[in-house]
Amino acid sequence: MQFDFTQNVRGDVLIVDDTPDNLRVLSMLLTRQGYGVRKALDGAMALASAQAAPPDLILLDIKMPKIDGYEVCQQLRDSPKTSKIPVIFISALDDVADKVKAFDAGGVDYITKPFQAAEVLARVENQLRLRRLQQYLMLQNEELARSNRELEQFASVVSHDLQQPLQSIIGFAKLVRLRYQGNLDDKLRSYITSIEEAGERMQKLTRDLLLYAKAGNQVTLNETVDCQRVLKQVALNLHEAIATRQATLTYDPLPTIKGNEMQLVQLFQNLISNAIKFVRPGVSPQVRVSVEQVEEGWQFGIHDNGIGIPPEHRTRIFEMFQRVDREDQQYSGNGIGLATCKKIVENHGGRIWAESQDGVGTTFHFIIKADPSEFF
Ligand code: ADP
Repeated sequence: MQFDFTQNVRGDVLIVDDTPDNLRVLSMLLTRQGYGVRKALDGAMALASAQAAPPDLILLDIKMPKIDGYEVCQQLRDSPKTSKIPVIFISALDDVADKVKAFDAGGVDYITKPFQAAEVLARVENQLRLRRLQQYLMLQNEELARSNRELEQFASVVSHDLQQPLQSIIGFAKLVRLRYQGNLDDKLRSYITSIEEAGERMQKLTRDLLLYAKAGNQVTLNETVDCQRVLKQVALNLHEAIATRQATLTYDPLPTIKGNEMQLVQLFQNLISNAIKFVRPGVSPQVRVSVEQVEEGWQFGIHDNGIGIPPEHRTRIFEMFQRVDREDQQYSGNGIGLATCKKIVENHGGRIWAESQDGVGTTFHFIIKADPSEFF
């Protein structure tokens, strides 16, 4: 991206004033400083000129016949082509009410007549610098969004295409184990187990990556989602883990909210499966889901009696591939689940955070906006 906002690019300024003398003075002042200057003697001319080729800045007189400055500014704001052009009002009306009205109409600054040359130049340059910075940030945002989309597409294609060969590797390893069961010595059997385990880890990694990439897709956020039903679905999906770990899952009466049901199932499922997983050996996981209404929307809590999260990791764990290093490394995983949760919550206009007490348990809180579709 080429955009040097520090360079001294003089802008293109449109001056609008029905007094030819004022036009001449301002025009001379700006031309001498190297600005490109266009002039308009009334509102209609100004609007036509701005539509034909949007300038970088408009200096706009307020008191003009037919269409006054406020009305011109309003019309500029209403048109997508001219809505972002900064407008500095110029007027002899040195009255607070007029200044407020000028800002209400969409002006960014105000100069009173008789004006000082140095003040006009400082205000013009200030607005042009802001505009250049704004344009630079917009370009950078577009660039970031584009490269993010590309990365997600890449992750999605790679994860998808890896599924099939991985399935074959695991399938053939299983076949060898079954076919040659009697003829395998311990070493060979452990090799085959390693192939199967590595294959399954990779399969989980590619599936989770795919889910992460999908969480960034544009989805409808105004489905009516019964959270009670969502929790039932999650309990069903996690049935095996719940039974094996002898876990208890309880929840408050849960509301019906606006959101994307598939993503909300994913969100609760990731958090609850972690709550079941990160528990000391021999302890039965106790997981409770709470909910309360707060100013921003619905605040959910997933409480567990697990191993806890050290304070220095409580923010980092929401980043991709971040896990808490533990000496025994007995908890499997890839560090994608919470990054996916964060993406889903942010899609819903909310935020997510963790509170934890070492050895006592952790609560993951997240807020879902009352109506996330209004968020954008
Ligand atoms: P994974 O579970 O695959 O490692 P996550 O992104 O879901 O990845 O979680 C990141 C890390 O956050 C985990 O590795 C774990 O260290 C920590 N963590 C997440 N949930 C809990 C929890 N309920 N209790 C303790 N630690 C947790």
